[in-house]
Amino acid sequence: MVASSVLGFPRIGANREVKKAVEAYWAGKITADELTKAASETKKSNWTSIKAHGVDIVPSGDFTLYDHVLDHSASFNVIPPRYQGKNLSPLDVYFAMGRGRQADGVDVPASEMKKWFDSNYHYVVPEFSEAVEFKLNFNKQLEEFQEAKALGITTRPVVLGPISFLVLGKASKEASPNFEAISLLPKLLPIYVTLLTQLKEAGVEWVQIDEPILVLDSGASYEKQFAQAYAELAKIGIKSLLTTYFGRLDTNLNFVAKLPVAGLHIDLSREPGQLEATVEALKSTPIVLSLGLVSGRNIWKTDFAAALKLARVAVEGLGADRVIVATSSSLLHIPVTLASEKKLTEQQKDWFSFALEKAEEVAILAAALSDSQDPKVASALEANRVSIAKRREFESSSDDKVRKRVDGITPEMLNRKSAFVKRREAQKAHLDLPKFPTTTIGSFPQTSEIRQARAKFGKKEITQEQYEEFIKKEIRSVVEFQEKVGLDLLVHGEPERNDMVQYFGEQLHGFVFTQNAWVQSYGSRYVRPPIIVSDVSRTGPMTVRWSSYAQSVTKKPMKGMLTGPVTILNWSFPRVDVSREVQSKQLALALRDEVIDLEKAGIYAIQVDEPAIREGLPLRRVDWDNYLTWAVDSFRLATAGVEDSTQTHSHFCYSDFNDIFPSIQRLDADVISIEASKSDMKLLSAFKQYGYSNEIGPGVYDIHSPRVPGEQEIKDRIAAMLKLLPDHLLFVNPDCGLKTRGWKETEASLENLVAAARWARQTY
Ligand code: GLN
Ligand code: ZN
Repeated sequence: MVASSVLGFPRIGANREVKKAVEAYWAGKITADELTKAASETKKSNWTSIKAHGVDIVPSGDFTLYDHVLDHSASFNVIPPRYQGKNLSPLDVYFAMGRGRQADGVDVPASEMKKWFDSNYHYVVPEFSEAVEFKLNFNKQLEEFQEAKALGITTRPVVLGPISFLVLGKASKEASPNFEAISLLPKLLPIYVTLLTQLKEAGVEWVQIDEPILVLDSGASYEKQFAQAYAELAKIGIKSLLTTYFGRLDTNLNFVAKLPVAGLHIDLSREPGQLEATVEALKSTPIVLSLGLVSGRNIWKTDFAAALKLARVAVEGLGADRVIVATSSSLLHIPVTLASEKKLTEQQKDWFSFALEKAEEVAILAAALSDSQDPKVASALEANRVSIAKRREFESSSDDKVRKRVDGITPEMLNRKSAFVKRREAQKAHLDLPKFPTTTIGSFPQTSEIRQARAKFGKKEITQEQYEEFIKKEIRSVVEFQEKVGLDLLVHGEPERNDMVQYFGEQLHGFVFTQNAWVQSYGSRYVRPPIIVSDVSRTGPMTVRWSSYAQSVTKKPMKGMLTGPVTILNWSFPRVDVSREVQSKQLALALRDEVIDLEKAGIYAIQVDEPAIREGLPLRRVDWDNYLTWAVDSFRLATAGVEDSTQTHSHFCYSDFNDIFPSIQRLDADVISIEASKSDMKLLSAFKQYGYSNEIGPGVYDIHSPRVPGEQEIKDRIAAMLKLLPDHLLFVNPDCGLKTRGWKETEASLENLVAAARWARQTY
């Protein structure tokens, strides 16, 4: 018998119940007990519906009120000193670590968050030092196992593995200079032993131990620690499923296959190529192989025929009893259920499969492999065959014109007419910007008035005309504000945008939008990524109207504002039938037309934001070059169609450029703006060392907090920057867009920024 399993489930509730409860708790509207109760409801509904869809192995211990890695830190007592001794309940310490706390005399910032591998989920980074005293504060895995058991469901608890837990963390401020978290392994293992022993005593047979770092190049350097840790855990006598996802084991398979574990899970949705070697390596062992055939990362229906073909390789090699059919990873990265979508067409619904539907998929696949005589299985296979065939037919009849255009991309289309130095002269004459030009990153405060107007327009409570008048009024006032403050290169403020990706997706051909398909991004912040379903093209200008209106009300130059192709792609659910490269280039061509239209409309500075370029980097270093080549080419394709005298900008919301300087340079944007206020000047020395040659605006203040930076503080920053960057290349701007800020601090901050830039003009 082939068993079916799900590795983890969305923790947000089918109707975002968990967000609502958590935020109500933060606002003091419900008690901790009421929060626990709301959480229990969601867990219960997850377990029972996974079970009801026929899945054999149901996960528990994967639920969280904020982040599962944070749960792990709290459970293992990895709590930085700054959150301790504040007289807070354990729950409030937990939330303080996740999101900071500023109330009743307590003022602590949130812990750092990082992207979870190459997904859009953020985890709270554990902080380690020699002083950490591991202990088991609570056992979430045990509690949830018992909670599910009380409902009559026996689950397989999920726990983050010891090596990944340490490696995904960072050294805290308290740590000594050469400290490495992995050195704590001997101290940490006894806590895992306690945790797993408690599970065993409660009757747990199998536990899923996640070690996703095994798909990274760096995983190889922990061979010794893996051997040590899993030898220790094997003594407990609980069966562990060593779980990897998002990538391939590659050579790590050599030592992984020798670990004393009862099972191994691999991601075959991402990396089907690793199947044969894995089966080969496991043949001489008793290890059970869990096949990640149903994607936990995308929302497309699984092609059963293709999945079964792969699965049969494993069944033939290892025998049905040693094979499990599973989701590739936790399903936390996809929305809960397609059943909530009321506006998708029948045709569209037939393409997709969300978390609950994927649970059913693993059950059907396992039944099919177990030679089930159940007629329902046969009809499900047939229905899937028909759906997949229809989808293929739709794909092949997609947009020929767009495909031809991608095929016809020439090298010249990627190049500006002249080199930067020459362009710079043309732009100086054309834009007439002073030395140390001041600008902002695009958005201005999104007030509740703006959000309400957008909502009313969405509900047709106001007419198109009324809405446009409202947006124009907003633009006018943002322009007047910038003139008053004395900024040099203006923006229109982005009041018409709900979101920097959704706004473009809604206007491009080839996207589909959902009503309720929320996915957790971090904590209680959920996003609703658009879905790319077919070849992408522009149906008409998307931003020209707003930018040219903004330009018409000022004599100062206006900067057009677009989201770049790689960012739109990364923050959407992509298609799986064509490569990401092709989708990115289709987006780039659409944006190229927009850029050229903006220029025709008299907009001579155009910013194409690419904050997601870095997070799209593949997990394995050997795959980087290929990605960076098409990603940078896409940006160039989008921006290179303009005259020398038009200034192109790009913006990145991070400061980690290590290893990608050549690609940042190759973007060949005339000006880039980057987050720099929180990093020390190391970042700029790295730019200098690399010899970055174009204009650059390192953010002079942090926009993530309402704090107003003083004029002197900004002057000092500029002075420090000028020690590292040539004065003729420096722009002065904030770290990122201002949409989450209030007007009061925005005004005060920008006044100081302008005053500091004026001072610099006199001084340098
Ligand atoms: N132009 C966008 C804004 O100002 C950029 C947002 C971002 O970098 N994430 O909001
Ligand atoms: Zn940004």
